[in-house]
Amino acid sequence: MVDTVTTSQEAIALEDKFGAHNYHPIPVVLNRGEGVFLWDVEGKRYFDFLSAYSAVNQGHCHPQIINALINQAKELTLTSRAFYNDKLGVAEKYVCDTFGYQKALFMNSGAEANETAIKLARKWGYTKKGIAENQAVIVAVKKNFHGRTTTIISASTDPSATKHFGPFMPGFNIVDYDDVSALEKALSHPNVCGLWIEPIQGEAGVYVPHDGYLKAAEKLCRQYNVLLMMDEIQTGIARTGKMLASDHEDVRADILILGKALSGGVLPISVVLADDEIMLVIKPGEHGSTFGGNPLAAAVVMAALQVVKDEKLAENAERLGKVFRARMTDLMKRTNKITLVRGKGLLNAIVINDSPQSETAWNICMSFAEHGLLAKPTHGNIIRLAPPLVITEEQIHECCDIIEKVILNH
Ligand code: PLP
Repeated sequence: MVDTVTTSQEAIALEDKFGAHNYHPIPVVLNRGEGVFLWDVEGKRYFDFLSAYSAVNQGHCHPQIINALINQAKELTLTSRAFYNDKLGVAEKYVCDTFGYQKALFMNSGAEANETAIKLARKWGYTKKGIAENQAVIVAVKKNFHGRTTTIISASTDPSATKHFGPFMPGFNIVDYDDVSALEKALSHPNVCGLWIEPIQGEAGVYVPHDGYLKAAEKLCRQYNVLLMMDEIQTGIARTGKMLASDHEDVRADILILGKALSGGVLPISVVLADDEIMLVIKPGEHGSTFGGNPLAAAVVMAALQVVKDEKLAENAERLGKVFRARMTDLMKRTNKITLVRGKGLLNAIVINDSPQSETAWNICMSFAEHGLLAKPTHGNIIRLAPPLVITEEQIHECCDIIEKVILNH
């Protein structure tokens, strides 16, 4: 039996032989993380510029979060929701107070939280809006990413998410992103129960809508009695420079969907937040999860959110995001390899001047890794750059120096 690996090559060979090939990782093998840093099995140190797709906003292995995990793990980890535990209610109150909602429903993965939001919106549509049974429609937008379940991919426009995975779930109307008149046309239909959007499309390549789009979406939802279902799984928890990306436009979702950095990357924890009028449409026995709301998750969530508040991570993301984009914009002026820099806070992307089918962005990321910085392309020619939010200004400049050097020499 092989129970340890000592070299990167060994680890990669094992995963290749025994693991499903559902990812195409950058070939580094990591075995330690602390703050903004990761180390590979050979001891090389890297700046993490992906943050596990924004799940590690608080930095790797944050001592406060890890202590909460360890202390709770010694007491009680799982009861299921067949019984009460002494932590869940406290965590529910904590997240409700933090985000300003009356009720919270804990799940595990982001996909599950989105599934929960879909069920809530549909049931609200039938029981409150009066939509005829099985006729409810959720409006989604092109290039969305909400997860990988068969229902969620039914609203996807990305062929790599959908091809050969049908048949698909009906009940979605997919319109252009960042287009208010397309929204109005779709939302005015009486069978629509929800508008399901990301405030910035992270997986698609960090697409930021024009100022005012989210506010207009909120207004249209109110006008047509449609629930605004905001997927802040990647944009939330201080990533874009505010606790929620919706806060930039002072928008309040009817159903708020959170995951990833809710746990600081320690456990899969997601939560759906809504007020009583919406959340209480789901009755006992109609929805649940064995692990959702377990005491370990409850303890971790509170510690992870407390770190975000104590360390003022939203403010840090806002301030350093500006520094970062200024450096990248300056770089763009000095080379034709970058065609666009976009983002908010510390969720940013650069677009590489080559086709999405080319290897250029991948090769640039390989070169970043050689120089001690980890990032990965999305959709071929877009490189998302999203470090943990505990990064310092000095470190941001050091990373910009690496990015600059690699791109100018590529
Ligand atoms: N929603 C958004 C906006 C995401 O970015 C992701 C993951 O990248 C998900 C949902 C899915 O989350 P999970 O991978 O935890 O199911």
